[in-house]
Amino acid sequence: MIDLTAVRLDTPAARRHVFLDSAGSSLPPNPVVEQVLAHVRREAEVGGYLAAQERLDDLERGYSVLARLLDCRPEEIAFTDSATRSWLAAVDAVPLAEGDRVLVTEVEYAANAIALLRKAEETGASIEPVPSEPSGEISLDALDRMLDERVKLVSLVHVPTNSGLVNPVREVVDAAHRVGALVLLDACQSVGQLPVHVAELGVDLLSATGRKWLRGPRGTGVLVVTAQAAGRLRPRLVDLRGAVWETPTSYTLREDARAYELWEYSVADRLGLIEAARYALDLGLDKIAEAVGERAARVREGLAELPGVRVRDLGTRRSGLVSFTVDGLAAPEVRDRLRAADITVTASFTASTLLDMTKRGLSSVVRASPHYFVAPEQIESFLAAVSKLG
Ligand SMILES: *Cc1c(COP(=O)(O)O)cnc(C)c1O
Repeated sequence: MIDLTAVRLDTPAARRHVFLDSAGSSLPPNPVVEQVLAHVRREAEVGGYLAAQERLDDLERGYSVLARLLDCRPEEIAFTDSATRSWLAAVDAVPLAEGDRVLVTEVEYAANAIALLRKAEETGASIEPVPSEPSGEISLDALDRMLDERVKLVSLVHVPTNSGLVNPVREVVDAAHRVGALVLLDACQSVGQLPVHVAELGVDLLSATGRKWLRGPRGTGVLVVTAQAAGRLRPRLVDLRGAVWETPTSYTLREDARAYELWEYSVADRLGLIEAARYALDLGLDKIAEAVGERAARVREGLAELPGVRVRDLGTRRSGLVSFTVDGLAAPEVRDRLRAADITVTASFTASTLLDMTKRGLSSVVRASPHYFVAPEQIESFLAAVSKLG
């Protein structure tokens, strides 16, 4: 079990208010904040280059820490500045041509969808959503029927931004690999709350962010480019980090995932992200998933009992993200009224997950995402506050 007293001591703000937005931007624990601040101060003392030089070993070890978190090899890790940056770098590297097909799920995230639509304009490839099961997950039967050798990429969202469902991954990967398609997993909402094992899942590419369930600083992200996929990809935005300029007319591209990084980055934030990953590993992802799961289950159960409140989560397997609506109140109104009671939730709108929200006739949902540092009694105060909204 997670030591609730200890994690709450590391998260002072979690004692002052009911924080239910780890799916948006979580509260970083003190050790993460300290890493960031200490490095910013050091940069002010000796300049950014020397300050980074002093932390070179820690920065290098960061690749192993993230590799341990995601169960892949350190050479397969690239640090970026957001999940979207990771995702864009990955998709840009997939060779696509006229007639190629890209499959997405109905819970595709807006930033991914927009990038794919632009990719389709440029290349003549088609973007096709795979229907979901009535339970919400991607339909594996539909996927099987749609897959053929023209499918070059399957974009799978592990946990969508607007509901609690957890999509199956291994089954999608096996099916996609049978026709030679790559699988890119958007693990933005799963990394940090659920164990995510790249090797076991078999995905080719994975994107994740720092600020959500991992509790890292904003402006941080990670991309996994597996060795099995690397040879089939061509990274597009490469600078002197990803390659060496060898002669006036030639350069050598790095062979590891750092080909996808740029030279400049916020060292302080990266140190914070590495600390956040270490913090999660120390607690144990299984224990985190259990604690988050218990809290989310109580939120769902409590909300379901309230008149006028509808839990909007889909999925037979569910995560720590709970979506709901209150009859007669738009999601932003619910969010703002709870904010006035020192409770932080957020709202998710149609445009973030257009296909799914449109299909379900929803214009917005309230999202409550309790991390392990939320005390059970705080969940009861949240439920009491929601019961008074109607
Ligand atoms: C938040 C989110 C993203 C984008 O993450 P950024 O770090 O903001 O780029 C991508 N996919 C899903 C499912 C998300 O919830």
